[in-house]
Amino acid sequence: MFDVIILGSGPAGLTAGIYCARANLKTLILEGLHPGGQLVTTTEVENFPGFPDGILGPLLIERMKKQSKKFGCEFILDHAVKAELSKHPKVINGQDKQYRAKAVIVATGARSKFLNVPNETELLGYGVSTCAVCDGAFFKDKTVAVIGGGDSAAEESLFLTKFARKVFLIHRRDKLRASKIMQDRIFANKKIEVLWDSVVVEIIGNKETKVKGVKIRSSRDNTETVLDLDGVFIAIGHVPNTDFLHELEKDEKGYIIPKYPGRSFTSVEGVFVAGDCSDSIYRQAVTASAYGCIAAIECVRWLEENYGI
Ligand code: NAP
Repeated sequence: MFDVIILGSGPAGLTAGIYCARANLKTLILEGLHPGGQLVTTTEVENFPGFPDGILGPLLIERMKKQSKKFGCEFILDHAVKAELSKHPKVINGQDKQYRAKAVIVATGARSKFLNVPNETELLGYGVSTCAVCDGAFFKDKTVAVIGGGDSAAEESLFLTKFARKVFLIHRRDKLRASKIMQDRIFANKKIEVLWDSVVVEIIGNKETKVKGVKIRSSRDNTETVLDLDGVFIAIGHVPNTDFLHELEKDEKGYIIPKYPGRSFTSVEGVFVAGDCSDSIYRQAVTASAYGCIAAIECVRWLEENYGI
């Protein structure tokens, strides 16, 4: 029986772990299917405060984990498949074991949607990225492409023009889904060229050469062309990892809705939320950490009030 179980071991979960364990709570972090979360698939992180020379994503996670362990946080390499959160105590079913706690912090994160084309996952961190804010600065004076047609793709394209010489926005249809104001900005930016009716069927390159380009199939006449590139940003949306959390109030895309804006309380008493599983807007390591801190502070106070600990 734990005081609190934290689901997820990205920056939100690990920061919550540091705060909970430091408040003397018996704290368990269930590490999840992808321990460390999305930062583990990133290379250099240059915008996390405190690291003026940058830090590798996996190393940042390792340090956060070490810091939470220092205060007594326990870790189990398992992932939740079922949760009974309205019960007292709350029950989390992992792959093989069952875990119980008085409170739960959900920090299960989100995953980027992928195109499912050859070389895409192999070249993540080698020219393929899902985050322009994180990786855009590596493409100074380079040629890059953003895949997608929504607000994320538009925002990523505009952001990348700060660095890149040329940005192709590759969209599978003949109309953008992005809001009118974003479309206007896209069309007004001379560095951006939209490739319409274009479906990316392969990313070209390997880990030595990094990304060299993409193969595109026209949805108008099925012809295939190769576009030379230094980087590819995939911006076709995100999916929160919340499928198994049936009791919590979620929006139509599965993001957990906090009970009060800016707070971590959820629709179920004693369950708190932090990070990308409830954030479709900022999605940064530093904001996930901040939400982890908020969730831990609110969880500590809730346990004090309800269990006197
Ligand atoms: P989105 O609105 O769902 O758009 C996803 C885009 O990716 C669509 O254009 C879609 O094409 C394309 N796409 C999806 N699957 C694809 C595939 N397999 N191959 C190629 N293209 C694919 O997602 P989003 O852009 O991440 O935005 C999510 C939400 O956050 C939206 O509500 C958006 O308004 C909001 N948002 C707002 C801002 C802002 O206001 N600054 C910034 C970012 C996001 P189709 O159009 O053909 O379906």
